[in-house]
Amino acid sequence: MRNIIIAGNWKMNKDLDETRDFCSQLAQIGVSNHEDRVQTLVAPAFPFLKSALCALSNSQVLVAAQDVSVNDHGAFTGEVSVSMLASLEIKHCIIGHSERRQYHNETDAMVNRKLKKLLSANLKPIVCIGETLKQRDAGETNSIILSQLAGCFEDVGLNTGLECVIAYEPVWAIGTGRTATSIQAEEVHALIRDWLGKRYSIDIAENTHILYGGSVKAENIIELLFQKDIDGALIGGASLKIDDFTFMITAAKEVIRARSGEKK
Ligand code: PEP
Repeated sequence: MRNIIIAGNWKMNKDLDETRDFCSQLAQIGVSNHEDRVQTLVAPAFPFLKSALCALSNSQVLVAAQDVSVNDHGAFTGEVSVSMLASLEIKHCIIGHSERRQYHNETDAMVNRKLKKLLSANLKPIVCIGETLKQRDAGETNSIILSQLAGCFEDVGLNTGLECVIAYEPVWAIGTGRTATSIQAEEVHALIRDWLGKRYSIDIAENTHILYGGSVKAENIIELLFQKDIDGALIGGASLKIDDFTFMITAAKEVIRARSGEKK
C-alpha cells in the first residue's frame, strides 16, 4: 500500500522569520513518516530553503523546491539549477505548476527537460499537470491530461515509480476555493495510473504517488484521500497556517489507518 504524501506549496509567501517559525512548529509536532506512513513536505521560496532545512533537521519533514531551471549553469539571471538544489541536499522539486505555465510560459517540453535533469541528479520531481476550466467544459480533460503526460514524460525512463510524483491540479481549482469533487479527481487519477501502467508497467503504476491539488483544505481532504488513486495532496493556501496544515497531516494519518483497517 502506498503511503500518503502531504505537501505544502507556499508559493511566494512567508519571509525568513515566518519560514523558520512555521518549520520549528512543524518539527515540534513530531511528524513521523515511517510510523504514520504519511510523508510531509513543505516547499518554501528559494531564499529560505536552507533555513527550512535547518529548522526541520531533527524531524522527518522534507523540504522541496518550487521550481528549477532547465539550464545547468551560466548566464541565466534569477534561475536556480538542479546542482544548486542538490548541494543543499534538497530531495524534492515541484515542476510544471500551472502558475509557472501561465505566467512564465512553461511548456510540457520544458517540464520534460526539468524532469530529466532532476531524475539524473536523484532528486524527486513532483510533476504538475491539469486542465483549464475551458478545457474541462469542452470535454477535453482526458485528452489534455494524456497529452501533458506524453509530453512531460517523453523519453523518460522510470525504474520503480518511486523516483517521481505526479500531481493532478485542475487549473480551475487552484486558489479559487473551487475543488474538484472526489469523484472528478478520482476519475483523472485513475486515468493517470492507467497511463502509467500502459506506458511503463503495472508495478510502476502501483508504486507512483499521484497527488491531488486544488483548494484542498481541512473540510475536503478526508473525502479526497479516501479515493483509491489519490495518494496525497499538494496544498497551496491551506498549507500556510500551521493549524490547518497539521490538521490535514493528522487527517491523512487517520485515513491511512482506516484504509488498512487498523484501530487507533
Ligand atoms: C497549489 O498551489 O498547488 C494549489 C493547489 O493551491 P491551492 O491549494 O491554494 O488551490
